[in-house]
Amino acid sequence: MITALYPGSFDPVTNGHIDVTVRAARLFDRVLVAVYDRPAKRLLFPTEQRMEMIRQAVRDWPNVSVDRYDTLTVEYARQVGAQVIIRGLRALTDFELEFQMAHINHRLAPEIEVVCLMAAQHYSFLSSSIVKEIAALGADVTDLVPPHVAQALRESLAPGRGLRHQSE
Ligand code: ADP
Repeated sequence: MITALYPGSFDPVTNGHIDVTVRAARLFDRVLVAVYDRPAKRLLFPTEQRMEMIRQAVRDWPNVSVDRYDTLTVEYARQVGAQVIIRGLRALTDFELEFQMAHINHRLAPEIEVVCLMAAQHYSFLSSSIVKEIAALGADVTDLVPPHVAQALRESLAPGRGLRHQSE
């Protein structure tokens, strides 16, 4: 029984994240998508809402569940009995960071393997930040995120709210 942990900020979840999750769900017995509860970066959506958006997106996948964590990723992986950590790779820039993190994590928990899945070609340009940036400027993001996420973005980025508000 292999449990794979897919950690990230998911602010918000995109079709690229969902593609990685679904592909991991075909490879492993159980996938736990874990929302990092205290990332260093500023976030648009609170943790509970980020989790709920993922839950809605993966509800057709019975072996996928969603949780939150605020410790070291490998510590949390041990806690939930995950043998694998999943990460997605889009470009060389991701590779450098993931390579470094995988080695650090390996030092901390040599029994846990990091498995990187290549982003689907049509999502290789897609990030939560770019989605927020273009949504804030009124662009249509319906091809990039599930409909309920597009709706949440519209609500959060309504005039007077949103990214500028967050960073003040
Ligand atoms: P983090 O703050 O941990 O980078 P993200 O939510 O931005 O959190 O990303 C979580 C993981 O998903 C990372 O491994 C990232 O590289 C991967 N990822 C992000 N966008 C995509 C995408 N479009 N296709 C595949 N993987 C992606």
